[in-house]
Amino acid sequence: MAQTISGLHHVTAISGPPQANVDFYVGTLLQRLVKKTVNFDDPGTYHLYYGNQNAEPGSILTFFPFADAGPGRAGPGMSSAVAYAVPKGGLNAWMEALAEVAVDFDGPFERFGEQLIALSDPDGLRIELIETDRAVAQGTSADGTPVDDGFHSVTLWLDTPDRTARLLMDIFGYASAGEASQDGETRYRFIANGRGRGSAIDLITSDAASIGRQGAGSIHHVAFRAQNDDVQMGWQETLRSHGFDVTPQIDRQYFNAIYFREPGGVLFEIATDPPGFATDEPMETLGQELKLPAQHERLRDQLERILPPITIPKGPSR
Ligand code: ZN
Repeated sequence: MAQTISGLHHVTAISGPPQANVDFYVGTLLQRLVKKTVNFDDPGTYHLYYGNQNAEPGSILTFFPFADAGPGRAGPGMSSAVAYAVPKGGLNAWMEALAEVAVDFDGPFERFGEQLIALSDPDGLRIELIETDRAVAQGTSADGTPVDDGFHSVTLWLDTPDRTARLLMDIFGYASAGEASQDGETRYRFIANGRGRGSAIDLITSDAASIGRQGAGSIHHVAFRAQNDDVQMGWQETLRSHGFDVTPQIDRQYFNAIYFREPGGVLFEIATDPPGFATDEPMETLGQELKLPAQHERLRDQLERILPPITIPKGPSR
């Protein structure tokens, strides 16, 4: 196997009005708003990027906030949860901090030998905090809550896991890392070669009947890392040779992207690490100004009038 995937690059979801989204991810989950830009395909809508303090691949959760988005619902063929990795011993501080600000959570539970809690973002997107020895803290907030380094995993809800599992193992180089059934749900874990940030993926099948629907609180796509353009083009060729319908490379300003639909129905992307988020503003002030790609710069005055203003809550000290 020439190349393997090292883990997640980013996850993109849909939200309702942007202020509640910023308040939750920055104010409650202590993520950093690392880019405030627009949906390049629909520039009247924001595209907000959250990440760790250094805005690194494997920590980036992005949202298209639509003020009038109807509620989404997870179901087969969709990613149904995003998990952040909490360093060993950090989950208690998180539970105390969430209780302090009256944010409800479920758990703690144990899953594959790790402790986790689960909560919902303001639009109902399921967020998990999983304590793992693969995580390192990037610091602590004023009250001692560990500031996460990035993702632990995403969960994909599928009708049948087999073909997606084959893609992960035979093409991406993931290894099977466990299977567990509980309450009508079976969960299969896979870990990428390297075991770094965002290296796990869980596939679940469920007896619960649901028909998924894209909308506020649903995940739109899951992106994996490629170290550079050459590696990405290698993936495009490999995936096409396996019969996947892969898009041409698309310039997303902060990375280059290719997209394809995995066999279970989830939209996958492979995104390049370079150039990263400090390509159009300094690392120290990421996310503070509205950044537009060259093709939309002529719309700036108009966009600044129609996009709702956002106040960024105070995040962790950095
Ligand atoms: Zn993407």
